[in-house]
Amino acid sequence: MTVPVLSTEELARYQRQIIFRALGLHGQERLKQARVLVVGAGGLGSSVLNYLVAAGIGQVMVVDHDEVEVSNLNRQILHWESDLGLPKVESALNKLKALNPWVNIQVGRERLTPGNAGKWVNGVDLVFDCLDNLPSRLVLNRACFEAGIPMIHGGVQGMRGQVSTFVPGETGCLECLFKDEAPPSSPTAVFGATASVVGSVQVLEAIKYLCRFGRSLCGKLLIMDFMKLDFRMLDIGQREDCPVCSSL
Ligand SMILES: [Zn+2]
Repeated sequence: MTVPVLSTEELARYQRQIIFRALGLHGQERLKQARVLVVGAGGLGSSVLNYLVAAGIGQVMVVDHDEVEVSNLNRQILHWESDLGLPKVESALNKLKALNPWVNIQVGRERLTPGNAGKWVNGVDLVFDCLDNLPSRLVLNRACFEAGIPMIHGGVQGMRGQVSTFVPGETGCLECLFKDEAPPSSPTAVFGATASVVGSVQVLEAIKYLCRFGRSLCGKLLIMDFMKLDFRMLDIGQREDCPVCSSL
């Protein structure tokens, strides 16, 4: 594969991360080559998309079916007062193009289903789970494992958040983690700042994973409790009877 050449403007734009020795110019070029999918353009998606695009990921696809509502605006910082009623993907596209014209951004206004998930997941390097409900997360999880694509999961509730990286063939999956979990009652409480931190951790995971440096959350669950200021990392096992990942 031909390594894309970063323009003079891009070299200036990303200078403060290129000088981070573990990333360097080679890592920045790797980010430019990367193609990622973000499912959900809400609170987590706002944080993930802003930082992915600012960091110079080459191709970013966004899937979401919702429109911007006033109750989103405490936390979904990609969407502003002037976007009320717009599809979230349209609002996101406007902001992200204005943030960084060097990133190729594609959007799809669809609700993720077992029938269309494979279409979005296939051919990307990484998927971000920025969804807000367990059934859709499990659909995405299955599609990622069937296609062999790593998925970085983020979740928020109130002042708690969690992040994990699932890699088909190497780790368990979201279904292993949530098999016995009852979906929370809707709507759940969320602070914008919690979603922002969790999304930022997801992006840092992605940069490290794509550029192969640092410690990863593969097989681990990072749980952040901002109420108690308690941060812990748990090992996640793989369920032998998991219908999604046990045969890999
Ligand atoms: Zn599993």
